[in-house]
Amino acid sequence: MKKLNHFVIAMVLFCLFGVGIKAVENRFPNNAKFSRGVGNTCFWVSSSASKYKTSIRTRAQNWMYTGYDNKIYMTEVSSNYATHMDFYAKSSDSVIKGKVLGYTAYYDGTGSRISPLGKGPSKNYFYTEIILKTSVPTNDNKGTIAHEMGHAFGLAHTETSKARLMWPDTGRTRIKPAKQENDIINYLYK
Ligand SMILES: [Zn+2]
Repeated sequence: MKKLNHFVIAMVLFCLFGVGIKAVENRFPNNAKFSRGVGNTCFWVSSSASKYKTSIRTRAQNWMYTGYDNKIYMTEVSSNYATHMDFYAKSSDSVIKGKVLGYTAYYDGTGSRISPLGKGPSKNYFYTEIILKTSVPTNDNKGTIAHEMGHAFGLAHTETSKARLMWPDTGRTRIKPAKQENDIINYLYK
């Protein structure tokens, strides 16, 4: 009887633990995230990306109000001093070529990039730059802006379903965060 109880307890623990892991989708190594949290995420849009301002504001709202609780609050500011997320647009660079429509770069508090361009971080970061290809539709109907914001918050790509914002390519069928993506935010920023 005692053995059975232990077995039952072990199964319950396994299930709780197993479900806990499964419920949280892809993050970067070491759960890399904003060192300052997401409760006052200041963003700034450079003149190069000014045509995306309306979509950026809309996507900020989409991340703040996913339909589920999270700690994200985003504020647009007029200078990039001490901001968390800066937006730029370029027609091409070493990463924006071929099918790549955007990427996120990660920096520490001294302004040094902490991972190679186009690669995710493996430690916490102070701020990010989001670079959009100038051919991204201004209405963000492919979800590129929302997707890059997801990377900036610490979400990695998911191969789970095309119905995820963090599906890697524009074949994604979702352009706003899914519940599972809101769950990642809550896992990272407790
Ligand atoms: Zn991506």
